[in-house]
Amino acid sequence: MQRHTEICIAGGGPAGTLLAYLLARRGAEVVLVEKQPVPGPSFRGEIINADGESVLRKHGILDKINPEAVLPLLRLEYWENRKIVKTIFPDHADGNVGIHIPQADLLHALLNEMKSYSNFTYLPGTMVRGLLQNEEGTYTGVKVRTADGSLLTIHSQVVVGADGRYSSVRKYAGIPVNSAGHGYDLLWARIPAPQGWEPVMCSTIQNGQQLHLFTQARGYVQIGWNIAEDSYKELRKRPFEELTQTLIEAFPKLEDSVRQHITSWQDFVLLDIFSSKSERWAQPGLVLIGDAAHTMTPTGAFGLNEALRDADVLHEEILNCLSQNKETLTSLERLEQRRRGDVERRQREQVDMELTYAQNFNN
Ligand SMILES: Cc1cc2nc3c(=O)[nH]c(=O)nc-3n(C[C@H](O)[C@H](O)[C@H](O)COP(=O)(O)OP(=O)(O)OC[C@H]3O[C@@H](n4cnc5c(N)ncnc54)[C@H](O)[C@@H]3O)c2cc1C
Repeated sequence: MQRHTEICIAGGGPAGTLLAYLLARRGAEVVLVEKQPVPGPSFRGEIINADGESVLRKHGILDKINPEAVLPLLRLEYWENRKIVKTIFPDHADGNVGIHIPQADLLHALLNEMKSYSNFTYLPGTMVRGLLQNEEGTYTGVKVRTADGSLLTIHSQVVVGADGRYSSVRKYAGIPVNSAGHGYDLLWARIPAPQGWEPVMCSTIQNGQQLHLFTQARGYVQIGWNIAEDSYKELRKRPFEELTQTLIEAFPKLEDSVRQHITSWQDFVLLDIFSSKSERWAQPGLVLIGDAAHTMTPTGAFGLNEALRDADVLHEEILNCLSQNKETLTSLERLEQRRRGDVERRQREQVDMELTYAQNFNN
């Protein structure tokens, strides 16, 4: 089976889906390929910061999301021995220190807007299996396996790899990537928030272990435990209650919900932490955005927001190129020129924040 389109985007996470929306609503022909059958089912970065908020507001997207799924966070608290030792408030009275939006809600809102667009095709449950190239080496499309198991060839003027930290598009294009561990991994779990739990982010060190709490929209608290890099396999041989006990000691108010909802290792999700930089973001006819171009650590919750910024900038460059019939490569390279400096600055900031984390608890 064959199809033709202007833009083929591999990966329907926040970067790919936002890019699809921004292009499709301006009339570009877009095919969005996503390997998961349902958008946004897994545990992902979900805190929108000021940069992400400004992208969503600029394009009127915040208003399209179910209000129940939009939770502005009031402050960031650092706790020690069950007491708050430092609080970060928003810069402005009407501001927030981040907005929690479940990724599924963000993706559904965007996909819902595109439902009636005849120039947009969404292919969930579809895996990228290879790339097409012409004789000059320019990328001209992707080969995919669709949800019903059939092979489909999608010919496109531009291929976008928005397929995350383990990007297949990057691999098939042979783009080298430099990855670095940060000395820790993260275990995530989620529990219903107890009555009266406020929309805040909290951080603490309890029994030598870093713990992070994020209040989530729809009445949940997301909990992150920092664990030593690559230690999860060994840790799983021990009782999971060692982790929940540490959490309860630090935040006794969570005890009932923790005991009820974290009942085995199955209730934890591992995020192996690394950052990466792709050596190039663009090749003729192909471009990488979001985690595929630059994986971030969860520190400061930048990954999702930088991915949204990439999509915003790339849509301008692609539209510019389509309207002026410019050489595709020129415009694709401009994404990297416009964004790489900011992203790498953020990556350095993350390292600084990780190295100086303990100083937040100095009075
Ligand atoms: C488990 C987990 C927890 C995270 N927690 C945090 C956090 O707490 N804070 C934070 O800031 N960031 C976190 N992140 C990172 C954050 O989610 C990303 O930075 C952000 O989602 C980047 O968006 P993206 O669209 O570039 O990539 P992704 O969100 O990874 O989206 C990529 C999409 O591509 C699809 N895909 C992959 N391979 C293929 C293929 N071969 N064919 C078709 N589709 C494919 C995937 O299914 C996915 O939907 C987390 C990431 C993970 C994986």
